[in-house]
Amino acid sequence: MKIIFLGTASSISTKERDNTSLLICEPKNRELILIDCPGSLVSKLKRLNLNYTKLNKIVITHHHPDHIYGLVSLIHSQYKLNKKLTIFSSNFSIRIIKKLLGLFNLTSKNYPRTSFIDVFSRKYFFKNLDLKISAFKNKHCPGSFGINIIYKNKNIIYSSDTALTKNVEKLIDKNTYLIHDCTASSRFFKKYPLLYNLHTEAKQLKELAFRTKPKLLIPIHFLLLRKGEFKNIKEDLKEVKNVFFPEDFSSLYIR
Ligand SMILES: [Zn+2]
Ligand SMILES: [Zn+2]
Repeated sequence: MKIIFLGTASSISTKERDNTSLLICEPKNRELILIDCPGSLVSKLKRLNLNYTKLNKIVITHHHPDHIYGLVSLIHSQYKLNKKLTIFSSNFSIRIIKKLLGLFNLTSKNYPRTSFIDVFSRKYFFKNLDLKISAFKNKHCPGSFGINIIYKNKNIIYSSDTALTKNVEKLIDKNTYLIHDCTASSRFFKKYPLLYNLHTEAKQLKELAFRTKPKLLIPIHFLLLRKGEFKNIKEDLKEVKNVFFPEDFSSLYIR
């Protein structure tokens, strides 16, 4: 299976990077699962030669605009084209998503019939023969969570937006592909220390990688406001051996 990085920027997109979202493509069971929904999903899926009307499973890790604003447009685009949609989220975010869909009247007939699953209501909120996905609480905002994907004994963790937390750390082992919040460099956080309450900086992530030794570290959710900021992030992480910096539309293959 593969994970496609549809976006890799934080709340402020750049010329090259849209806000963070991920697409899980598992061909054997024909599974397509979207993790967070900013930007134009229709355009992105078309670029990947994927049918946007078949996208019917969406995980929303929290309700911040950069993770949710594309949802109304996606559902609007599926008018009469998709019958059923499942949204996996926390109860806190589900309440907000329902309000959002109501505001645009996207719950009326001809739009996909949307059902909501509380990710904390069961051990695996999604499960098929090869893929199991569970949620864990992270440290970001009310109702926010990260996800743990188990695929054929491989362990993939997506922290979503989060400050450093033991909840993520205790799940990591040497077989883990760790996709982690790396909003900015250590230098940037020191200038704006409030960021420490919500996000992770590159040197914290380096230390986390040293402590837990994941198979591959994949930093994501970059806030690139200053010239040279991406270079500073890479510099902070240069001692980590197994690191992959995704660009928009990069793929991570899990075999
Ligand atoms: Zn974000
Ligand atoms: Zn956020």
